[in-house]
Amino acid sequence: MDGDRVEERQRMVETQIAARGVRDPAVLRAMLRVPRHRFVPAAEQHLAYDDSPRAIGQGQTISQPFIVALMTELTRPGPASRVLEVGTGSGYQTAVLADIVGEVWSVELEVDLSARAAETLNELGIGNVHLKVGDGALGWKEGAPYDAIVVTAAPTAVPSALVEQLAENGRLVIPVGSASQELWVLTRTPDGVERESVLPVRFVPLR
Ligand code: SAH
Repeated sequence: MDGDRVEERQRMVETQIAARGVRDPAVLRAMLRVPRHRFVPAAEQHLAYDDSPRAIGQGQTISQPFIVALMTELTRPGPASRVLEVGTGSGYQTAVLADIVGEVWSVELEVDLSARAAETLNELGIGNVHLKVGDGALGWKEGAPYDAIVVTAAPTAVPSALVEQLAENGRLVIPVGSASQELWVLTRTPDGVERESVLPVRFVPLR
C-alpha cells in the first residue's frame, strides 16, 4: 500500500492499540498496513502517528488511532461484511475498514473533504469503497442492509434511518451526546435493539 513510516505504525499499534486491549488480528493488521500519514495535511505528516486526533480542514478531525481501531473492532468486521460509515472526513477510517471487509459505503457532508478522501483512497489503490456527499443521518439506502454502521460524528440522538438500514444482527457503532458523549453499540436483533455503552468519547458534532 505504502511502505513508508512502517516503524512508526508498528510503534503506534504496540503502544496505543494492542496495549489498550484491541485484539482482533485483522484490525491490528489493518492499522499496520494503512498509511495514516497520507490522510493528514502534508505539513503534519510527521505527527500522524501521535496518540491524538488531528485537524484535517473545515474544522474537522481525523480521530485518534486507538478510537479508529476500537470502533473498527466493535463492528466485528469480516471479509464479507458490508459497512456504512457516516463522516468520511479524511478517509482514514474508510481505508481501515476497507482493508478488512468486502465493501465500504461512506457518506460525507463536506464536498471538499469527500473529494480529497476519494483522491487519497484512489492513490492507495483502495477500490472496495463507495463515497457520496450528503447527510449521513439518512444512511445510504442503495447499499443497505449493512452488517455494520460506524458513525464518526456525534448526533444528540441515534438517527432512526441508521437503525432501519442495519441487517439482522447488524451493529451500529455511534457516539451520542453533545458536551458529554458516550460511544454506544446498538445491535439489531429479531426482537428489537440491544444497546451497550462502551466509553466516554469526544467527537465533532453530526450536523
Ligand atoms: N472518519 C473520519 C473522521 C472525520 S470527523 C476520519 O477518519 O478522518 C467527522 C466527519 O463527519 C467530518 O468530516 C464532518 O464533516 C462529517 N459530518 C458531520 N455531519 C455529517 C452528516 N450529517 N453527514 C455526513 N457527514 C457528516
